[in-house]
Amino acid sequence: MAEYKPPTTEAEFKKNFKQKKPLMNATEAFYESSRCLFCYDAPCIKACPTQIDIPLFIKQIHTDNVTGASKTIFDSNWLGNVCGVVCPTGVLCEGACVYNHQDVPPIQIGRLQNFATNKTINSEKNIFKVGDSNGKKIAIIGAGPAGIACACEARTLGFEVDIYEAKELPSGLNVHGVAPYKITNEEVLKEVEYLQKQLKFSIIYNTSIASKEQLKQLENDYDAIFLGVGLGKTRELRLEGEDKEGVIGAVEFIEELRMKHHKLVVPKRVVVIGGGNTAMDAASESARMGARKTVLTYRNSKDNMGAYGFEYDLAISAGVDSLFNVTPIAIVGNGKVEGVKFAKTEMIDGNLQTNMKNVFVVRCDLVIKATGQAKQGHLYDLIDNLDAGNNAIIKVNDETFQTSNPKYFAGGDAINGGSEVVNAAYDGKMAAQGIHSWLNK
Ligand SMILES: Cc1cc2nc3c(=O)[nH]c(=O)nc-3n(C[C@H](O)[C@H](O)[C@H](O)COP(=O)(O)OP(=O)(O)OC[C@H]3O[C@@H](n4cnc5c(N)ncnc54)[C@H](O)[C@@H]3O)c2cc1C
Ligand code: SF4
Repeated sequence: MAEYKPPTTEAEFKKNFKQKKPLMNATEAFYESSRCLFCYDAPCIKACPTQIDIPLFIKQIHTDNVTGASKTIFDSNWLGNVCGVVCPTGVLCEGACVYNHQDVPPIQIGRLQNFATNKTINSEKNIFKVGDSNGKKIAIIGAGPAGIACACEARTLGFEVDIYEAKELPSGLNVHGVAPYKITNEEVLKEVEYLQKQLKFSIIYNTSIASKEQLKQLENDYDAIFLGVGLGKTRELRLEGEDKEGVIGAVEFIEELRMKHHKLVVPKRVVVIGGGNTAMDAASESARMGARKTVLTYRNSKDNMGAYGFEYDLAISAGVDSLFNVTPIAIVGNGKVEGVKFAKTEMIDGNLQTNMKNVFVVRCDLVIKATGQAKQGHLYDLIDNLDAGNNAIIKVNDETFQTSNPKYFAGGDAINGGSEVVNAAYDGKMAAQGIHSWLNK
């Protein structure tokens, strides 16, 4: 089990957050690509949400046609480079590789994808073409993976595109959320820059679209609007003492970490509340930031956690402890967090019950709440006739990604409630095609 010292320099930070899927070299890529069996009806393609022609790009890598391989990848997925390292490949493309049935490690599809696209991005080769102008304009709200993918596809179809982004960097959770041992800020930003240079869409930063007036202006100025706003801040737990100093949402904690790196100080004892992938990331990251003791706590059993098994294993291998069947009932401390009071839970007749007779305190200096992100309902309420149901997840047509207000299209976390980058990339691309079909009707 690893033990990490608090990083005090960027070099130490990088050491603690060593890349899980490091860039392959040409020899490794040549060897790995030689393993592909080029299956008929390849199951890996079906398992990829963006349906990349995986056997084709692997063949292109093997024949040293790396630019061709990148074109194959980007033609299906505009975030092809990032996805190569952030996708949960074990449950997607690589999980479907036929080698799994033969007790042989699957082909490292993600790393090969990252190898090819990285090489092409670094070479600055132009491989995309802006479509002939169709005289129409699209406004995109949010420069996350969904918004960027929508912009790229729309430009190839001849639209003018402006993205309005609340923050000062593009790519949404790719720079603010995904664990730094999966991808670095530089790599994320390099891909967006590469795409933007060739496809020439504009991003207007530090501009949150948050009022009816702004939306009306966009409706007047543009032919269609794409909502790629993702999800919001970490949801409140409504626990006694939640407002104490030292209680933070996981998304906010990770965002600070992604921006400040070694300059973020993580105290010695951390409690993480939650059982999803974000909880695993937050726990793993606080351990890598040198917290002496990080305890992951979940209200149900290990088998009932929402997180992928490999994400849990990663947290444990970083030195995280876990505590199952406990629910937080209060945050204790005098102004500042000193611990979390938990009650044990037990499953009785299929219902999870809290046993208030079995209560104890876990001492800590920081509490990270990884209990889900709030939805962006406040924005949806401002849009006429936008159906987002009671749960504030925008409803769209499955094929065109058009919402109940025909001028608006949507994709990514805003329509699925929180999934993966690759899903957002798919939605954004398909929405641009949906807008194109609608405006050409
Ligand atoms: C902690 C964490 C770790 C994750 N790790 C992984 C991973 O390892 N692999 C993986 O595939 N997926 C991961 N995900 C999920 C993945 O990041 C998301 O599914 C994906 O980023 C969704 O893309 P999106 O474009 O829909 O939204 P986002 O990435 O959230 O982007 C939305 C953008 O819209 C902007 N915005 C929001 N509201 C407004 C507004 N009103 N006006 C202007 N701009 C606005 C935001 O600033 C943001 O830039 C993770 C998520 C989290 C929270
Ligand atoms: S985009 Fe993700 S799921 Fe699709 S082939 Fe690439 S790594 Fe696999």
